[in-house]
Amino acid sequence: MADKTIFSQILNGEIDCDEIYQDKKCLVFKDIDPQAPVHFLIIPRKPLVSLKEATDADTELLGHLLLVSAKVAKQEGLESWRTIINSGAEAGQTVFHLHLHVLGGRSLSWPPG
Ligand code: AMP
Repeated sequence: MADKTIFSQILNGEIDCDEIYQDKKCLVFKDIDPQAPVHFLIIPRKPLVSLKEATDADTELLGHLLLVSAKVAKQEGLESWRTIINSGAEAGQTVFHLHLHVLGGRSLSWPPG
C-alpha cells in the first residue's frame, strides 16, 4: 500500500488539482510541471505504490487505466500521444502512488532519456 503521498492527498481532497476526468476507479488531472503542451496523469483510487506491487487482482483496474488514458487523450484533442509509467526511483518515479503519464501536443523523441 502507498503511504500518504501528494496523490493520496489529492484523492482525499486535502490538495487541489486541475481535474479533467474522474470515475469510480481513478482520477485524471493535469501535471503541475507539464513536459508537453498536453500532460496529464491518471491515478487509481486504490493506493498501489507502483506497477511492481500490482497483482493479478489488479488486471481489470490496469486495463481500465489504459482505456481511460486513451479516452481522455482524445477528449483533450490529441491524435498521437505517449503513455508512460515510471516504476521505481531509477526509472524516474518520484511520487510513490501508481500513475500513468500522458504526453502529447508536440513531437516526442525516442528513445527517452
Ligand atoms: P513521476 O516522476 O513519474 O513519479 O511523476 C510524478 C509527476 O507528478 C511529475 O510529473 C510531477 O510534475 C507531478 N506532480 C507532482 N505534484 C503534483 C501536483 N500537486 N499536481 C499535479 N502534478 C503533480
